[in-house]
Amino acid sequence: MLKVWIDQDLCTGDGLCEEIAPDVFFGMDDGLFYVKESAENFGTEKLFDGVANPGGAEGMARFPEGLLEAVIDAAEECPGECIFIETE
Ligand code: SF4
Repeated sequence: MLKVWIDQDLCTGDGLCEEIAPDVFFGMDDGLFYVKESAENFGTEKLFDGVANPGGAEGMARFPEGLLEAVIDAAEECPGECIFIETE
């Protein structure tokens, strides 16, 4: 299972991650970026108590194998170095 999360404390809000992998990363009203288990990937958007994502490791989202390259690209390009990929 592939999972990814963002440490919002380090996010610069530039949006590069969403440009590279919009099915995984998205911006919220606070100007920071978050991860999602999007409907495109898993049939339904994963919600956390009605909020799209609480952020940090608590908001970790699964993503499909087909997006691994894009997620790695995003993590490498991320100026905040705050995208963390986990495999288990
Ligand atoms: S690329 Fe990194 S720093 Fe930029 S918005 Fe995404 S998570 Fe934040």
